[in-house]
Amino acid sequence: MNMGDLRLQHPDKLFLGGQWVEPSTDRTLSIVHPANGETVLKVADAREDDIDRAILSARKAFDEGPWPRLTPAERAEYLLRFADAIDVRYKAIALAQTIQIGAPLGPGMHIAAGLAAEPRRTASFAATFPFREVRPAIGGSATIWREAVGVVAAIVPWNLPSHLGLIKMCPALLAGCTLVVKPSPEAPLDMLLIAEAASEAGFPKGVISIMPADRDIGDRLVRDPRIDKVSFTGSTAAGRHIGAVCMDRMARVSLELGGKSAAIVLDDIPIEKVVPSLVSMSTILNGQACMGLTRVLVSKKRRAELTEALGAAYARLKVGDPFDLSTRIGPLATERQRDRVEYYMGLGIRQGARLVTGGQRPIEFNRGYFIQPTVFGDVTSDMTIAREEIFGPVLSVIGYDDVDDAIRIANDSVYGLNGAVYTEDADQVSAIARRLRTGTVAQNGMGPQPGLPFGGFRQSGIGREGSIDALHLFTEIKAVYAID
Ligand code: NAD
Repeated sequence: MNMGDLRLQHPDKLFLGGQWVEPSTDRTLSIVHPANGETVLKVADAREDDIDRAILSARKAFDEGPWPRLTPAERAEYLLRFADAIDVRYKAIALAQTIQIGAPLGPGMHIAAGLAAEPRRTASFAATFPFREVRPAIGGSATIWREAVGVVAAIVPWNLPSHLGLIKMCPALLAGCTLVVKPSPEAPLDMLLIAEAASEAGFPKGVISIMPADRDIGDRLVRDPRIDKVSFTGSTAAGRHIGAVCMDRMARVSLELGGKSAAIVLDDIPIEKVVPSLVSMSTILNGQACMGLTRVLVSKKRRAELTEALGAAYARLKVGDPFDLSTRIGPLATERQRDRVEYYMGLGIRQGARLVTGGQRPIEFNRGYFIQPTVFGDVTSDMTIAREEIFGPVLSVIGYDDVDDAIRIANDSVYGLNGAVYTEDADQVSAIARRLRTGTVAQNGMGPQPGLPFGGFRQSGIGREGSIDALHLFTEIKAVYAID
């Protein structure tokens, strides 16, 4: 597959209220392929008038349209059709990911092939989520309804838009919400394919708009009183701001933000069993994954051995053309992202971390936003590279004295998204996991687990997506009392 296989039906139009419409201006978003820095495509850019029309359309569909009044089972039928239409496009979606952020195509295909599972799984919650339950009440009974929260603005980052968009859209749709989705200006292509799938599924008018735009338009969405709920995935800095704006007008808000997740390696597990998993869990999407395990905590007696093994494994990773199926690390998504990663690498060295491998742009590429996979040893918890989210293939190895010390270091973070315990002793995993202040913990760093709740403690966010629990984010509780 190559770039020519991406056949967008309407790159010059916006998906507004379920229809492809002409944008209000001729402004476009340039899609830059990060492996060569060249603009490969231009797509319509949603501006003020467009977003206003999308909000109006979603509002009307929610207040007057059939969608919120269908039963969950009826809405689930649409989700199943949506899933089929996504399945047909999964290769193009993977391609879009590679074009827009340089994610290697091989793993990208795997991720894209699993996307349709999200609407299918969500459809099954129509039968299991307590949309309606009856409870006893004084002198009678109460019916507890979980009703759609209203018009939802879903704001999506560039690093995995179709997945991150779908885990918002599917529960919102099953709950009966209507949606204005805003993909990021850097990476709208896969969401335009999702829009094609939504069009094919035939959702009623106004239910879904997908409007690629810059952050100023995101800000408009967040401030608009016609939006009942904001579901945001992105940086903690933007999330903090969005949360404050929403609170000011009491809009519902859920936030999926950054991470600095720790892997605690216990002494019982052989180093050779740990290394492949740590490498893959820290380099997902070229290291641009919120859930990445970027801090490796190991006992001081095994620190040197593990650091060298990780350094050797990182040095062997094939950096290159993301379309080449043997490539493990493609370019970073944007020039800005590469600058940021280089800044942190320099800071690591200046603050006294030991550069084991990497640390530079690879000399074999004279264009594109490539960076060498990098391992730092002798990192301490107070160094900036151990505290801030770098969002690149950069790993920090930190030594601990004993398990209590490891847990203390793991929790010494403003974030609390993901975590792992590497050991062959499942009891140890349970015991340590209960003491970690993170949303997920996996034995031996298993990868993403579709269908389980995902989200963060502390500044990693508010709320859980990706499971039946996500329906709570898109519903309001109403209690109706009746006298016997
Ligand atoms: P970002 O915060 O810059 O942008 C995210 C989205 O929000 C984009 O669509 C952007 O246009 C929009 N936006 C930015 N500022 C806004 C504002 N003030 N008002 C309204 N909209 C605004 O993040 P990014 O650089 O695109 O994504 C990377 C970040 O996302 C990382 O921090 C990563 O950890 C986080 N992330 C978190 C999860 C999770 O599930 N917790 C998943 C993926 C990515």
